[in-house]
Amino acid sequence: MSRYLGSVCKLCRREKEKLFLKGERCSSNCTLNRKRGKNVPGQHGTTKGKMSDYAKHLREKQKARRVYGLTEEQFSHYYETADKMKGSTGDNLFKLLELRLDNVVYCLGFALSKKMARQMVNHGNILVNDKKIDVPRYQVKVGDVITIPEKYKAVAVIKNLVEKTVSNVPLWLSFDKNKVAGIVVSEPPAGEISHPINSQLIVEYYSK
Ligand code: SF4
Repeated sequence: MSRYLGSVCKLCRREKEKLFLKGERCSSNCTLNRKRGKNVPGQHGTTKGKMSDYAKHLREKQKARRVYGLTEEQFSHYYETADKMKGSTGDNLFKLLELRLDNVVYCLGFALSKKMARQMVNHGNILVNDKKIDVPRYQVKVGDVITIPEKYKAVAVIKNLVEKTVSNVPLWLSFDKNKVAGIVVSEPPAGEISHPINSQLIVEYYSK
């Protein structure tokens, strides 16, 4: 299945919550704050009704997929991999997703949104241990150092972002402002996800 190319605000409206897919605009001028933004897109957007159990499970899976910007196929591949690993499938799933290079670039504050983070990786603007890695799905490991090539450090938008970074970095990452370098200090602890998602509902969705 191909990647979604329509309005990302529609995806938030569908999930009835902010998924922060548009960078700065999400804080200053979010569509969900407008009257129309409160309706689910489509002909039956204003219809109110009780959600079935299946719908609850499906929505949580869709929300997670949208937060990480993955296709159905990519997301179910992560689920299958997580299911084969030792331990809790839900925790494993989010560990794999959080350790994607594009997600780490976003968490370090190098990008305004996960989409921008993916583009930075795709365009070769991210180094892992001083080596260019242009694969957004690349899994970072404990000890990896993530940096931006020297020539991009002076770009205004990157400079601004780096200024704001330190306070928002999750505890499993550390950020050296002087070197503009992020380090993976541990694997993300179970339940520490960059967006609130109920992993149990997703496991139940795939277990049906
Ligand atoms: Fe979602 Fe951001 Fe659009 Fe608000 S502005 S609806 S959070 S993508």
